[in-house]
Amino acid sequence: MPSLREQIESRRTFAIISHPDAGKTTLTEKLLLYGGAIQTAGSVKGKQSAKHAVSDWMDIEKQRGISVTSSVLQFNYQGKCINILDTPGHQDFSEDTYRTLMAADSAVMVIDAAKGVEAQTIKLFKVCTLRHIPIFTFINKMDREARDPFELMDNIEEILGIKTYPMNWPIGCGKGFKGVFDRNARRVLAFESDGRANGVKMVDEIEAELGDAKLDELIGADNHQKLAEDIELLDGAAEEFDLEAVHNGTLSPVFFGSALTNFGVEPFLKEFLRLTPTPLPRKDAISGEVVDPCSENFSGFIFKIQANMNKNHRDRIAFLRICSGKFERGMEAYHVQEGKNIKLATGTSLMADDRAIVSEAYAGDIIGLFDPGIFSIGDTLCTGKPHVQFAGIPTFAPEHFARVTQVDTMKRKQFVKGMEQIAQEGAIQIFRDLGSGMEEVIVGVVGVLQLEVLEYRLKNEYNVEIRMQQLPYEYLRWITNDPDELDPKHLDLTSDTRPIEDLKGNHLLLFGSSWSINWAEQHNENLKLSEFGNL
Ligand code: GDP
Repeated sequence: MPSLREQIESRRTFAIISHPDAGKTTLTEKLLLYGGAIQTAGSVKGKQSAKHAVSDWMDIEKQRGISVTSSVLQFNYQGKCINILDTPGHQDFSEDTYRTLMAADSAVMVIDAAKGVEAQTIKLFKVCTLRHIPIFTFINKMDREARDPFELMDNIEEILGIKTYPMNWPIGCGKGFKGVFDRNARRVLAFESDGRANGVKMVDEIEAELGDAKLDELIGADNHQKLAEDIELLDGAAEEFDLEAVHNGTLSPVFFGSALTNFGVEPFLKEFLRLTPTPLPRKDAISGEVVDPCSENFSGFIFKIQANMNKNHRDRIAFLRICSGKFERGMEAYHVQEGKNIKLATGTSLMADDRAIVSEAYAGDIIGLFDPGIFSIGDTLCTGKPHVQFAGIPTFAPEHFARVTQVDTMKRKQFVKGMEQIAQEGAIQIFRDLGSGMEEVIVGVVGVLQLEVLEYRLKNEYNVEIRMQQLPYEYLRWITNDPDELDPKHLDLTSDTRPIEDLKGNHLLLFGSSWSINWAEQHNENLKLSEFGNL
């Protein structure tokens, strides 16, 4: 039996982030194939596939064939237990996507080699940098026409402000793609397409040093010469490989490959597993001390709540990231925010294609706890003394806003309850004009699909019909000044800026453009604005 420490140190927990269509699903699928977690490619969240990866708990999801909530995929590979936190993309992009990154110990950023860094990559990257977690880059689709690799490096460094270190270097692209040069092993990994779209064929590694005549044959003399020049340039460049910089998120190791044809996926996985950290220690917000993941005491925090998986019950599943120790089904733990011990009766782990009951789990793992409505996002559970309490999870600024009113004013109670409960799960954020009531609510969401989900759920679960009008605001900022020191009514603002408050009375500003944010900052000297709030 492996010891507690061995179990925990075999864990690797990460999220894959990308702009839609860069190849996140395809890469995830290929990683799962190596782990033997799935037998055939095409079963992860296949858009046309009848088999949804994990959750098809809502009609909207079924109708559209998309996954509304993010899930966790676990598999074993070469003695490591790997947890991939899936972050939804496309129009189902939501706050969950951001919060999931709070539970990860590193991130893999997939970039389309023809497009470079795109809008959603930037947003997700920003959240990763909040936590200073390591970020690995997989430049995908090298089997297609791609941008120049030097240009891609510059693109990442300039737009994201992170240094890059190419671990391998591509030889040609598109039809002329010959493979990659592994900079560490100093050898060429040649690309052989088997002509099949799903690329099940494993490629052979061919050892050949630069300058070796064999390489002329393998990749062509011109490519060989170009490669030698590129590598000389790279080796001469100032950036050294620095593992510490990788671990604090300031240097991103870059890999080139093609998820679709499988090329470069396994070498990437091996290197990634070697470099990515074991479960990272988290800080106890009370004592300020680090909680050792290998501690005998169990601890973890809730980063996501998913409602109504079972339509017949108002049950929710609270997703908990284990930060230390071991979870055993049925164990008791102290719920810090409620101040009492509770029995963790049902643990479900969301596996690749089924919801399996887990009987034990370790630091680094994610478990789904049955939630009769007692948990909130950011809550800590722990055993042993003194109790630990992890810092709350930030609230991310929504980007889409709507004015919501109820159709039948007699149902005020249900309306308020529904709005508050859905907001508590973190799917939406609710605000109102300064000093006003709940007759008219301003809803903010990170992804526009959440507005549809809200309407659907209020109708189906709370029997409340609403009227919704989208508002032309694009940005929200929290005012972090002391409320006594600054009255939002007296600020000098543009006409497309609206002061609002949340239900706790925190003040915020809604802006129609980034230009208005600049105006507010320039015309109100003391005003302090933040992109993140606290739940
Ligand atoms: P996601 O939206 O980031 O999850 O992207 P998908 O994995 O769904 O991929 C988007 C499209 O790009 C699909 O049609 C994939 O088949 C295709 N694709 C993904 N990886 C590659 C690749 O390495 N090469 C090529 N040519 N196409 C790819």
